[in-house]
Amino acid sequence: MSSVQYNIQVTKQRIRAEMHKSAQGPLSIPKLVAVSKQQPDNKVDQSILAGHRVFGENRVQEAKQRWEARKVKHPDLELHLIGPLQTNKVADAVALFDVIEVVDREKLAKIMAAEMRRQNRHLPCLVQVNTGEEPQKSGVMPSEVDEFIHFCQEDCSLDIVGLMCIPPADEESAIHFALLREMAKRNELSELSMGMSSDFEVAIAFGATSVRVGSAIFGAREKQ
Ligand SMILES: *Cc1c(COP(=O)(O)O)cnc(C)c1O
Repeated sequence: MSSVQYNIQVTKQRIRAEMHKSAQGPLSIPKLVAVSKQQPDNKVDQSILAGHRVFGENRVQEAKQRWEARKVKHPDLELHLIGPLQTNKVADAVALFDVIEVVDREKLAKIMAAEMRRQNRHLPCLVQVNTGEEPQKSGVMPSEVDEFIHFCQEDCSLDIVGLMCIPPADEESAIHFALLREMAKRNELSELSMGMSSDFEVAIAFGATSVRVGSAIFGAREKQ
């Protein structure tokens, strides 16, 4: 067994164990989104060979190079966009990805909605929330989340299924996960994308329905 295959198995075991442990955790087994950004192709191939099918990428161009041919070969692949989306990349993103986790501003929501109609690809979307209110980070401010979700649903007819966050690196993630859960609950959204290699078990304890794990599966990323 390759180390990537082993790491996927261990991560899945940890996910299941945490889910069964936590009373407030999710009702079904959280989805493992394997974050393949900046990882070598042979490791990505090993994970596909091991049967893994759900992946996350943060850049549209890199993802296109990496996944366009693989998606033809493996039609059951499910690709999540987890990095900031520029409006000039929306057409490519809608064509390639299966879930968009980074809806965070009105202009983007409008352009995405128009593009999804044009391509007749109505993808499930998550709203990214800047729970730490960090100036350099994308995401909707917590005070604007309810209104923004409403805008996406009512004015753009986007299929908003949940919320996503990336907590500040230097703070306890738990507070941010709890906040995200609260915002999803009051907006009646079922999906919570939260937790990375260092804190996915905490996220599951707070109800994550999907976790985004990169380095714990593939090892440290290559420098860009
Ligand atoms: C890179 C990245 C991850 C994965 O991070 P690891 O610490 O390697 O697990 C998860 N989510 C987002 C949004 C990322 O950009």
